[in-house]
Amino acid sequence: MDTLISARRVVIGPHGQVLADGAVLVRNGVIADTGPRHEVESRAPARTLRHDYPDGTLLPGLVDAHVHLVLDAGPDPVAALREADDATVAKGIAERALGLLNAGVTTVRDLGDRNGLVTEFRDAVRAGRLPGPRVLAAGTPVTGPGGHCWFLGGEVSGEDAARALVRRNVERGTDLIKVMATGGGITKGGPPIWAPQFTAEELRIIVQEAAHAHGTAGIVAAVEAGVSTIEHCTWIDQDGFRLLDDVVDEIAARGIGVCPAASPDWRGFAERFGRERAEEMFGGIRRMRERGVRLLTGTDAGVSRAVFDDFVSSLEFFAHLGCTSQEIVDLATCEAAEALGLGKVTGRLLPGLRADLLVVEGNPLSDLQALRRVRLVMADGLVYA
Ligand SMILES: [Zn+2]
Repeated sequence: MDTLISARRVVIGPHGQVLADGAVLVRNGVIADTGPRHEVESRAPARTLRHDYPDGTLLPGLVDAHVHLVLDAGPDPVAALREADDATVAKGIAERALGLLNAGVTTVRDLGDRNGLVTEFRDAVRAGRLPGPRVLAAGTPVTGPGGHCWFLGGEVSGEDAARALVRRNVERGTDLIKVMATGGGITKGGPPIWAPQFTAEELRIIVQEAAHAHGTAGIVAAVEAGVSTIEHCTWIDQDGFRLLDDVVDEIAARGIGVCPAASPDWRGFAERFGRERAEEMFGGIRRMRERGVRLLTGTDAGVSRAVFDDFVSSLEFFAHLGCTSQEIVDLATCEAAEALGLGKVTGRLLPGLRADLLVVEGNPLSDLQALRRVRLVMADGLVYA
């Protein structure tokens, strides 16, 4: 049966495209109609399931472009993962995905799993066997010997091995390739965060999609290699920060997305990292935005303290950078969807797109906190929450 959802406000697209007293009609998982409530009602079949929110806001489902479903966000997620067998990890993936869904996140991009567990979960959601958001899965991230996240099984040395791992991922049906262009924080004993892990030529061979890069040299190599997004992009150098304006302009010109992956605990991170240093790092993200770089919303969920059920705290990072609530809602919906190549699938409430949506109490375009008051979540046409 068709489902009609009405609300006081319906956010159909970016830049404040709002219908007052609007409605959306969903048929077979697809948005079949959008418009003023009385018009959608008059066009809807007689027998239609109804969800009415006369005080609520209906908006497109949220996009978390940087999660790690295999990690548990506990005190030592890497140790927990290494101790757990695949069945336990699979159970955890399903639970954590539900946390995201209940927070209104209907699309996630997972940046690296073990043994294809997230790819399997993605397929189970697609087939309707498990509840969950739409998942874009990176499979096994490509890293150097003993490199960042080596424990996920993606250590390669040299061009041939790198090419073989990318092929194996593609054969398994991954949606993107994640490459660890530099070291990272969670890998004990791994290369430093600023250090490049691959030569420019190796990166060119590996690169299809997302590159994890903190250090300046790794960022430069990733841009040259033609990645579609850069994760973190903190411009950390051996002795401080080194943001290169010409590279930033190149990132903007090539339309490469940057996902700062600000954890819901980004304020706590700033305290531990040193507030002044943290502000310097955040300033780099702000500067990229000012120079026209497309930013992506993402939580790094799974890393210690980066929980799966508090997307709004992560979004507050963008308010800290100076974004308005409306700009943040746009970033988390249609802009993230477009940056992930899903602009014709999700991110707006227009006929023909998949029915990914949520209803919240209040108006998130003027008060971001309204996103914490979730009343209904629909992912791919199925109702949750
Ligand atoms: Zn991450």
